[in-house]
Amino acid sequence: MAGEPQSDCLFCKIVGGEVPATIVRETETTVAFRDINPQAPTHVLVIPRLHYPDAASLAAAEPQVAADVLREAHEVAQLDKVDEPGYRIVFNTGSGAGQTVWHAHAHVLGGRGLNWPPG
Ligand code: 5GP
Ligand code: ZN
Repeated sequence: MAGEPQSDCLFCKIVGGEVPATIVRETETTVAFRDINPQAPTHVLVIPRLHYPDAASLAAAEPQVAADVLREAHEVAQLDKVDEPGYRIVFNTGSGAGQTVWHAHAHVLGGRGLNWPPG
């Protein structure tokens, strides 16, 4: 069924507690944890508990949960005090954009200068 946990999905395993992660916040619908290979002083991943392969399919099937992910990204930024001067939310979508884990996730990056456009 759509959204069901996938046995071969790393982030479903983090949601299920089978793979450890440094969790910073949890809600009924989302989990936020520190990226294992941080690209900035704050680099947190916010994921839905439901399994969808990318942000677009999540938003199409569960728009409320997609909104929860965005809200939690802001909560994480506030928690790490990177909401001022600003932070970045990234959804890599597709292998050409660097997506490597096929469970929807928002990167929350902050705590250093962030160039625009990114490389
Ligand atoms: P993507 O490249 O798909 O947009 O992002 C996947 C992210 O997951 C990468 O930034 C990568 O460092 C992170 N990642 C991969 N494996 C693990 C893991 O086992 N634990 C944590 N916390 N992050 C991971
Ligand atoms: Zn998954």
